[in-house]
Amino acid sequence: TEAQLRQSQKMEAIGQLTGGIAHDFNNMLAVVIGSLELLDRKINDPNPAVRRYIDAAMDGAKRSAALTQRLLAFSRQQPLKPETLDANRLVAETSELLRHSIGGDVRLETVLAGGLWRVHADPNQLVSALLNLAVNARDAMDGGGRLTIETQNAHLDDAYALANFGVCAGQYVMIAITDTGRGMAPEVMARAFDPFFTTKEVGRGTGLGLSQVYGFIKQSSGHVKIYSEPGQGTTVKIYLPRMFNGGDDPPSRAVADAGAAGTFGE
Ligand code: ADP
Repeated sequence: TEAQLRQSQKMEAIGQLTGGIAHDFNNMLAVVIGSLELLDRKINDPNPAVRRYIDAAMDGAKRSAALTQRLLAFSRQQPLKPETLDANRLVAETSELLRHSIGGDVRLETVLAGGLWRVHADPNQLVSALLNLAVNARDAMDGGGRLTIETQNAHLDDAYALANFGVCAGQYVMIAITDTGRGMAPEVMARAFDPFFTTKEVGRGTGLGLSQVYGFIKQSSGHVKIYSEPGQGTTVKIYLPRMFNGGDDPPSRAVADAGAAGTFGE
């Protein structure tokens, strides 16, 4: 649809811009951090005031470097490395990491479907998408709550696929991340995927989490959709296309064709 086209053009333009800026910035920050380290070693001053200034400068420079790393990742300087994946296994293997990043107040539940189809996606990027979504969920649940990660084989029919994603019917593996948090107002939801859109305070949110998820999923030929109810919670559904030669599949076309040619015919 036109809205989706506009979104991807916007992503691309901002991606190129931030990529260029982040790259130059990163080089300059490397000079700053290196010089600070040298300075620190040279003056080697035990005076706490001096220490504090150096530590503060170092801390700021390192945090800026971490931000430029995120910007570079966002502008996708590094190419995707897709693999045949079992999303259930990936979720199971990531759950310790997820549990750690959502903290003690939030309960993590996983509901993993049996007989899940395989997908073709970059595992590191998928883990980082799940982490982004988990952190958003945690931020929406100040007083604690429940984070549920669910997997499912999903057959999208023409009507749904067309209305939501502007594509024809297809088979996908769905990963849904649901929280019991504050939810999103319609005007927040409308902009949630925009790069740099954040409702969080300065220093807490970059506004890049969801646009990163969006960019990665689109690059993987998938789809992503937010369902949210203010005061109730939010579900983000990721759809990754089913892989058809992953070993757990019905007879391939070649076999079916052989049947049609007479092997199994009447
Ligand atoms: P950031 O988390 O840095 O703000 P994102 O792109 O990940 O950037 O999210 C953009 C905005 O969307 C958030 O600031 C928040 O307002 C809203 N949002 C995202 N996930 C959720 C969620 N699970 N529940 C409520 N609001 C959310």
